[in-house]
Amino acid sequence: MILPHCSMCNYQFKWKELLFMMGMKRCPKCGETQYVTAKKRRQAAWCGPVIVTLMFVLQTLFSLTMQSLVVVGLVLIIVGVTVSPFMYEFTEKEEPLF
Ligand SMILES: [Zn+2]
Repeated sequence: MILPHCSMCNYQFKWKELLFMMGMKRCPKCGETQYVTAKKRRQAAWCGPVIVTLMFVLQTLFSLTMQSLVVVGLVLIIVGVTVSPFMYEFTEKEEPLF
């Protein structure tokens, strides 16, 4: 897995710089604002429904209790946040979603 680069100066962002990013990020090297590409934002929009479906399937298969379902949900969120910096792709222009 590789971390995304600045689309202007090719600066490679650090994992912790992108951890709680919301759609855009200022490049620490050239100062240019970087936006997540529409393609990646559309992919990210699928994560919620996929996680909910996955939890529903797990609950049906293993008849999990509410408490263990909450734990599974938390683990999925933590994994998602940890992995998310690797999923980004940047562009210097804000792209419309549709
Ligand atoms: Zn830059």
